[in-house]
Amino acid sequence: MEFEPVIGLEVHAQLLTKSKIFCGCSTAFGADPNSHTCPICLGMPGVLPALNRKVVEYAMKMALAVHCRINGASSFARKNYFYPDLPKGYQISQYDLPLAEKGCVDVDLEEGRKRIGITRVHIEEDAGKSLHDEKTAYSYVDLNRTGVPLIEIVSEPDMRSPEEGAAYLRRLHEILVYLEICDGNMEEGSFRCDANVSIRPQGTERFGTRTELKNMNSFRNVQLALEYEIERQAQVLRAGGTVVQETRLWDAAARVTHSMRGKEEAHDYRYFPDPDLVPIVISDEWIEKIRATFPELPMEKRDRFIREYDIPRYDAQVLTAARALGDFFEETVRHCGKPKTASNWIMGDILALVKEEKIEIQDIPVSPKALAEMIALIEDGTISGKIAKDVFQTMWKTGKDARFIVEEQGLVQITDAAELDSVIDTVLAAHPRQFEEFRNGKAPLFGFFVGQVMKATKGKANPQTVNELLKKKLSLR
Ligand code: ADP
Ligand code: MG
Ligand code: ZN
Repeated sequence: MEFEPVIGLEVHAQLLTKSKIFCGCSTAFGADPNSHTCPICLGMPGVLPALNRKVVEYAMKMALAVHCRINGASSFARKNYFYPDLPKGYQISQYDLPLAEKGCVDVDLEEGRKRIGITRVHIEEDAGKSLHDEKTAYSYVDLNRTGVPLIEIVSEPDMRSPEEGAAYLRRLHEILVYLEICDGNMEEGSFRCDANVSIRPQGTERFGTRTELKNMNSFRNVQLALEYEIERQAQVLRAGGTVVQETRLWDAAARVTHSMRGKEEAHDYRYFPDPDLVPIVISDEWIEKIRATFPELPMEKRDRFIREYDIPRYDAQVLTAARALGDFFEETVRHCGKPKTASNWIMGDILALVKEEKIEIQDIPVSPKALAEMIALIEDGTISGKIAKDVFQTMWKTGKDARFIVEEQGLVQITDAAELDSVIDTVLAAHPRQFEEFRNGKAPLFGFFVGQVMKATKGKANPQTVNELLKKKLSLR
């Protein structure tokens, strides 16, 4: 029997506020354990939480970006459970009245664009971290993360393959990073995903029993975990068994999921309204103010790049991966008017060096204007594309501009036919044996002669002119 997977994802994103959600403690990652704590985030009796306004604004941004309806009033609820890294014994979250509901996001798949429903976006606080020391057999608790603001984005069960799940995650990730409300670091846990998956016989409507997968810290691991889990459930059903609703942990090393615990139901958490916090009231004016601060979002930018600059979708995809990269590209095009050439240089030489030197595009030693000037030198025939590669390396190393380097090193391209003709004569005379072979029909030697001419001119010969002249000369004789 063939099965169809049904996938719904819950994403937790840490918000980039400076201070925590209900107190003034720092949210910075990597500080000494328990140094970013106070009576409020330690959950001492009698303290009162005070909501960080920035948290609400950041959450509203994401909610609007995924087309959710923002509730005029939403409220906080206590989700009760015991964990050593949860000092209050409950997590402040949102339950029956979340910040925002009923949105959607589009993802680009090989088959085309698909819309995935968003059930809700709500605000909650993060818990601390338990550290288990295998050497000493002690466990430690670090409460620096307690009270760091999170948003949870819950999707509808709309995805039908692990690839779709990964594509959806990448979309949420790029939107959060574009909005500059989350750093998106999956290894440090600023962007985490729980994956819910069930399977049903192809062609049927009713959803099967789902399992919830946790502990995947990369897009690839989410996809691998889903693939494994879909196959595991199919084997259970094929063997006549039933899938148990439970939470399973992904083991990245062994590439399997393990049962962690039975799935808890909402009523197990004894949710109730937090009596210490008033409802969040959001006016239309506030929403409009937030909307007004919106940058152009990545998918819209991609579509515009394709339309406006007539570059391939692949290029647009690469160039919009980060906001600064798209800005660099557009600025370059503004100066040189050659989108595809600019795109090639950025995707090729520039991104290679950015990767090699582990720097950010905004910190590179070549400005968009300098790149544009170099492209102009190629376009007007002053230098060949091949020489340009070296010129660019020198620009990168020295910060000098292209025209200066070309003049300083005498790199101006040779297009003069008479000059090249005499170089060709010298080359032919120097290689009589190859010349003879060529005349006897060994066609690939044409490339050899082009190479020799380029070598003789230290790469400065205009390749096109050399080609034409050589053709004439070789067929003449
Ligand atoms: P919980 O807190 O119990 O995990 P949520 O409502 O937060 O519940 O999240 C449930 C997630 O599971 C949603 O993303 C939803 O789309 C998904 N989901 C619900 N039912 C199924 C199912 N039968 N198969 C796959 N995913 C499902
Ligand atoms: Mg869940
Ligand atoms: Zn605190």
